[in-house]
Amino acid sequence: MKITIHRGSREIGGVCIQVQSGDRSILLDAGSPLGESLSTVDLNALDFSDIVISHPHQDHFGLIETLSSKKTVYMGPIARKLIEATRLFLQQPPLTCSFGELKSGEWVEFGSDIRIKPYLMDHSCPDAFGLLIEAEGKRVYYSGDFRASGPRKDAFDYFLAHPPRDVDVLLMEGTMMGRGNARFPNEKAVENGMIEVLKQLGDRACFLISSGRHVDRLCAAYSACLETGRDFVVDMYTAHVLRTVSDKFLRVPDINTSSRLKVLANGCTAGAHYVRIKENRKFFGDFKDDLFRPETRVSKEQIAANPSRYFLRISHFSDMLRALSPCGVIYSMWSGYLEEPRFKRIKEDPRVEFHEIHTSGHAVVDDLRKMVDAIRPKRIVPVHTEHPEAYEMFGDVLLLPDGQPLDI
Ligand SMILES: [Zn+2]
Repeated sequence: MKITIHRGSREIGGVCIQVQSGDRSILLDAGSPLGESLSTVDLNALDFSDIVISHPHQDHFGLIETLSSKKTVYMGPIARKLIEATRLFLQQPPLTCSFGELKSGEWVEFGSDIRIKPYLMDHSCPDAFGLLIEAEGKRVYYSGDFRASGPRKDAFDYFLAHPPRDVDVLLMEGTMMGRGNARFPNEKAVENGMIEVLKQLGDRACFLISSGRHVDRLCAAYSACLETGRDFVVDMYTAHVLRTVSDKFLRVPDINTSSRLKVLANGCTAGAHYVRIKENRKFFGDFKDDLFRPETRVSKEQIAANPSRYFLRISHFSDMLRALSPCGVIYSMWSGYLEEPRFKRIKEDPRVEFHEIHTSGHAVVDDLRKMVDAIRPKRIVPVHTEHPEAYEMFGDVLLLPDGQPLDI
């Protein structure tokens, strides 16, 4: 078996790894870079038949839209639905690839040469998998992105108790090498932080800045609303993300069943989202009919009349921010994005009480070590990290530069 990291050996994001055995060649992830990248990846210049996507984050799947020939892309069913819905909301054309499904614990065969078993992991999006790759009697485990501090920590604990054995190479992410996560060590701490801020804001409204696909964070915000007597107001896109995931996970709120979850029903964003939903009836099913029920919808005017009642996670909210100021903003993403002018402006707005409450979607060093200790691989290859040299602490490490094949 031969593995080549096309991108990701010395950077976070943009991951693309090729596995070759016999006549078969597949890619593990095909991500867009998060910023300036050290390597260029052109999927159409690579020779492969299938792509296995570990989880639905742009830096792991973003390149699939560049495919010019028919390939099969494997991912979890929720991941696929979230990606397809996002494209519809953004008016992007449908993906032209075929899809295969990943299910935790079930092998997927790629001809007679390669097979892959996904392991469900705790990460900051649903359907996140680590991947065990088997070919020619050799085994590689690719960690994907993972953490042990979210609501699916039990998946990580299960993994530690039942790790893959006889692993020749562990390709392990190391986003948190050189980063800390001490202030809010887990999602529960984030929820408690939100509760504290919402109480302290008194009669002021509060906005949440977070990824619309970070379902754990949306759940934390909803729980904080239950605790503080506020309604959690989301845009139609976010409501659909929650619908998609709540179909499978009952703990996730849904507009039909969760009394404190409301949809913003007017304004530019609502108008644009509603058009997309109407245009794509087949995809969205009866979701459209649920949006405007009196017990579900809330208008900008209702919010302005009683701002202390609401915690809002909506896209493009600058006009509402102006209308509801003074107000609070909880920024709940990686602090590096705060350099972007759109967030900087909000942070520096004197009418805004700005709070940063975030925990990482990635494993801290102690949890990375737990994975290594459980798997006991022959060799560790760093990936998705800015500090590959720091992996030395874990054992026998091989620094594999982008583009250089490794025969196993
Ligand atoms: Zn990720």
